[in-house]
Amino acid sequence: MIDRATTGQRYRAITRFNVGELPQWSSLDADLREAVEIVSMVLPFRANHYLVDQLIDWDRVPDDPMFRLTFPHRDMLEDEHFCAIRDLLWAEAEKAEIDALVKRIRYTLNPHPAGQMSHNVPMMDGEPVSGMQHKYRETILFFPSHGQTCHAYCTFCFRWAQFVGIDDLKFASKESDQLVRYVRRHPEVTDVLITGGDPMIMKTSVLRRYIEPLLAVESVQTIRIGTKSLSYWPQRFTIDPDADELMRLFDQVVASGKHLAIMGHYSHPVEFSTEMARAAIGRVRATGANIRMQSPLLRHINNDPQVWAQMWSEGVQMGVIPYYMFVERDTGARKYFEVSLVKAWELFQQAYQSVSGMARTVRGPSMSCFPGKCHVLGVTEIAGVKAFVLEYLQARDPNLVRRPFFAKFDPNASWYDDLEPFSAADEPFFISPEPDDALVPLSIMSSAE
Ligand SMILES: *Cc1c(COP(=O)(O)O)cnc(C)c1O
Ligand code: SF4
Repeated sequence: MIDRATTGQRYRAITRFNVGELPQWSSLDADLREAVEIVSMVLPFRANHYLVDQLIDWDRVPDDPMFRLTFPHRDMLEDEHFCAIRDLLWAEAEKAEIDALVKRIRYTLNPHPAGQMSHNVPMMDGEPVSGMQHKYRETILFFPSHGQTCHAYCTFCFRWAQFVGIDDLKFASKESDQLVRYVRRHPEVTDVLITGGDPMIMKTSVLRRYIEPLLAVESVQTIRIGTKSLSYWPQRFTIDPDADELMRLFDQVVASGKHLAIMGHYSHPVEFSTEMARAAIGRVRATGANIRMQSPLLRHINNDPQVWAQMWSEGVQMGVIPYYMFVERDTGARKYFEVSLVKAWELFQQAYQSVSGMARTVRGPSMSCFPGKCHVLGVTEIAGVKAFVLEYLQARDPNLVRRPFFAKFDPNASWYDDLEPFSAADEPFFISPEPDDALVPLSIMSSAE
């Protein structure tokens, strides 16, 4: 049983403005605190007392994986940028001057990777439909305007550009009618993936406004909700004031005959470890919804095959189905978290071989890049020459899916755009955006949802 007296506090965000009030904070050394203060001007963080009290092991800070995932680190900024901000702070510069510098630095961090803006926004009646992306035939991504923030701002996540208020980059949709109109006109869309931010930050009554109208659309078979809340704020599913109402909404989706899939973002097995996290999983599953888990592979957080094997097998035990392992995309603090493709594959292979077939539903490592979700199958030799073996798990062009192809081996490659076709036969698999989108770097889509 969950004890409300000890765990039942209401959600309260911890950010750079109030983090100093945490008892744990004063025990950290001054340099570490200053680094968080400086880096968070560019890459903001957000936490809550559940995350701070139950998931972070403060005796292991700064190396604790949940601490790393939540609080920015000095190395996430180029030294030159870090020092520039620090110098202005030390010189007590005007706020406007500091803000301008912060903005400049943000734009150097590729706030909008993968041609998301220009390539995936669908058209309806000659107008672009905001708040949606339609990249793969059968699945539409929907970004409800009320779900554009998260319980925590994962430091690696491409959505940071939305959180820091770069307005012209913000996807938002005011109306779910538009979504319904679009899916009615596109019966090839079987899946609606509601994402964010984190849609589970919405009150149930708001979420219902988006979901209910979809239940009447026959061609929609699956509603997916991408969320980090199962691990960062499981109270959302258990003891929050509208948690019961949320379970009733899930019941209703299942009763309508649609598949409801909660795409849980789990980065580390510690996120399964608390009573509250387990209670949340149990409640969601009791509605008939499935939970699947996915996460990027991140240096400093989960670059250890045992961590993944444990996460997948504990997940299976609780009925959480392993889905994707992503390669960290090229935005934000990428350099800090980056793992080379060959290392990612080795790690995946080691973790995968150590779990039973039940956990081998997971696919990866996968890069969400311009042409599609590119899966690194491994490294092989062709007539004595080393090569990467790749395939698309998803592609704009469905005909490319599940056709193995090759790239020249490069031990340092860490993203799709570091790769080159192995031979002329592989060239059709390497697709770049049109030149007029040259401002948008060629590469990826991925991450959490
Ligand atoms: C990952 C992704 C999807 C979902 O792909 P699945 O392989 O069906 O999980 C849909 N749209 C975009 C843009 C994606 O990146
Ligand atoms: S990874 Fe998910 S939970 Fe984390 S910041 Fe990105 S969208 Fe939010």
